[in-house]
Amino acid sequence: MSRDDDVYRQYIDGEWTDGTGEETFHSENPATGERIGEFRRGTEADVDRAVAAAEAAFEEWSALSHVDRAEYLWDIYHELKQRHEELGEIVSKECGKEISEGKADVTEAWHMVEWAAGDARHPKGDVVPSEIPSKDAYMRRRPRGVVGCITPWNFPVAIPFWHMAVALVEGNTVVWKPAEQTPWCAQVVAEMFEDAGIPDGVFNMVQGYGDAGSAVVEDDRVDTVLFTGSAEVGQGIASKVGGEPGKLAACEMGGKNGIVITEEADLDVAVHSAVMSSFKTTGQRCVSSERLIVHEEVYDEFKQRFVANAERVAVGDPLDEDTFMGPLIEAEHVEKVSRYNQLARDEGVNVLVDREELEPEEIPEGHEDGHWVGPFVYEADAHENLRCTHEEVFGPHVALLKYGGDIDEAVEIHNDTDYGLAGAIISEDYRQINRYRDTAEVGLAYGNLPCIGAEVQLPFGGVKKSGNGYPSAREVIEAVTERTAWTLNNSTEIEMAQGLSADIKTRED
Ligand code: ADP
Repeated sequence: MSRDDDVYRQYIDGEWTDGTGEETFHSENPATGERIGEFRRGTEADVDRAVAAAEAAFEEWSALSHVDRAEYLWDIYHELKQRHEELGEIVSKECGKEISEGKADVTEAWHMVEWAAGDARHPKGDVVPSEIPSKDAYMRRRPRGVVGCITPWNFPVAIPFWHMAVALVEGNTVVWKPAEQTPWCAQVVAEMFEDAGIPDGVFNMVQGYGDAGSAVVEDDRVDTVLFTGSAEVGQGIASKVGGEPGKLAACEMGGKNGIVITEEADLDVAVHSAVMSSFKTTGQRCVSSERLIVHEEVYDEFKQRFVANAERVAVGDPLDEDTFMGPLIEAEHVEKVSRYNQLARDEGVNVLVDREELEPEEIPEGHEDGHWVGPFVYEADAHENLRCTHEEVFGPHVALLKYGGDIDEAVEIHNDTDYGLAGAIISEDYRQINRYRDTAEVGLAYGNLPCIGAEVQLPFGGVKKSGNGYPSAREVIEAVTERTAWTLNNSTEIEMAQGLSADIKTRED
């Protein structure tokens, strides 16, 4: 039973369990403030049991073939597809993303599962020529062991599968700590693993807060930590795990992403891309754009058109198909975004759109307790070191930054943040595009497109403060396997590379 007295439970070693803790927590619909469900709050002892189960299950699971392991994932793939509408609504209700985004989250999840399970039948490793003709050299991969997955609320179905689908197909076992804001989505994902009949201990889920996540990170039996979330938490995990030999953390974190709009831009494309990048998911994607870097020749027209959109975009009920922006995830986040809006005012920027407090008629009936904010748009000096134009807000908080020089000046402004996740250039001039391509410090770059909406078959990762070099989605394979460079001698003579002598010389020689 996944529920006991209406309280949802942990999934450990193939069983639903209350765990050791007394505490529970609630999931809330951010558009209405209504409670969705009650969940057991996982403890260190629960994580300990889950890791022990994952460790015990590793030997048998890793001995299966990739293709056999992928079979369990194919069941989940079909279930995600069949329940698309229903699950999309659950995502929208629990994390407030408008319904097309809720459904896209589920679609992205089955794309990831499809990629990982399909990859089971693809060639693995490289055959490498040896210097010595009688030697065969090639690369093999082995699963690392127990993988701890710590995921955020904003892609509550897709990101868990970014982490877990590849990790499992490659032969690792998993302990998953989902985000505390979206335990209902996590519950549904765990039920899918149960439905698929995944062997006991191969997949474990401990619901809870950062302390449970921290217990996963600290456990010596966890070989790899996959983390997606804030830079603050991710840096802490990366530096902690970095100090432990043999252990590895792959961390995907936030961004202060920019879009460069040059004097050669098609302004229809520019405005469309900027509105999508800044306001989709109410600015709560790690790839959302909070910096629009616009050439002075097109600045006034772009500004007028972007501002007109920001004043009009529909904020409202995520389940209503006419909504463009849903609420923020929680009350504390409304406070954070408001604090940054105030910081921008205090730093002396020129505010162009301020919909921080929505008009009462904009808030749909029955949604008065939702966590609402609208767009906040301002213009600021591109070269000034303001906090509001350099720190990640994770909301619909957008700076217009004017530049007057060539593409190199635009890229210099673009790169002037500690982050380096996503970015875009809007231009009809291929030389400008290619200059941006070659010099922008980002992991995900787009030309004449929004800087959101990555596909799973591309690596997803950032540079600088945005990531620690192990991209997610398909590239997570690097983080959950270790490679062996294998060399086999087909001769009875031993011959060494680099001209190294293989003669054994004795005192008699
Ligand atoms: P966000 O700002 O998107 O909520 P967080 O970094 O706070 O991002 O959270 C992402 C995930 O990390 C969540 O599952 C959260 O519970 C978990 N988490 C928070 N603090 C820690 C920590 N100190 N160690 C491990 N995991 C943590």
